[in-house]
Amino acid sequence: MIKKKELVIATKNRKKLREIRQLLNNSKIKLYCLEDFPGAPNVRENGKNFAENAAKKASVLARFTGKLTLGEDSGLEVMALKGAPGIYSSRFSGWPKDDERNNRKLLRMLKNVPFPKRKAAYKCAAALADKNGLIKVVEGACSGIIGFEPKGRHGFGYDPLFIIPKHKKTFAELGERIKHMMSHRAKALQKIMPAILAYKNNQ
Ligand code: IMP
Repeated sequence: MIKKKELVIATKNRKKLREIRQLLNNSKIKLYCLEDFPGAPNVRENGKNFAENAAKKASVLARFTGKLTLGEDSGLEVMALKGAPGIYSSRFSGWPKDDERNNRKLLRMLKNVPFPKRKAAYKCAAALADKNGLIKVVEGACSGIIGFEPKGRHGFGYDPLFIIPKHKKTFAELGERIKHMMSHRAKALQKIMPAILAYKNNQ
């Protein structure tokens, strides 16, 4: 019998995990999350960029689980803030991580910035590793504009502020179906999918 392909999704962020599961919705792959591996180490995100952090998460957790593992690191880059919060997106307003407080801080920092100058991009790096090391790292991006107030109830993080110009609505208003057609995460996962499918379990 051919063994089903197995993939560990190396994130402890439940909302991200939900999105990645939906995006990898492929019955040929058995997906695991870190809750399936008690004692999985916390990976310190101390890389210089999203790609380094994603690669570290994938490699450390692949070594721990012994299975093909997907690491993901993502965040928001705002042009008027010279690319901030970037790799610090989840902890932009300090600890403990809090999406609403991050959004309030972002709005405060952009208080006097007019609409045309509120351009931003979500970035996502996805990395694949197995117990022998890193296999591949890819990136995806999605452009938007930061609104003046939170709108919508879907998604997570900065989604209530992230307006998609084509729709004139935030990701939080548009919902998962549309987000998954154009998001930074969807693009990165599309790029890494061939490497997941090409991987042979017994390497
Ligand atoms: P990470 O878990 O260190 O990769 O942090 C990612 C952070 O970037 C999240 O906590 C959010 O603040 C932000 N972020 C990344 N992707 C998204 C998204 O799809 N929607 C909203 N916020 C996002």
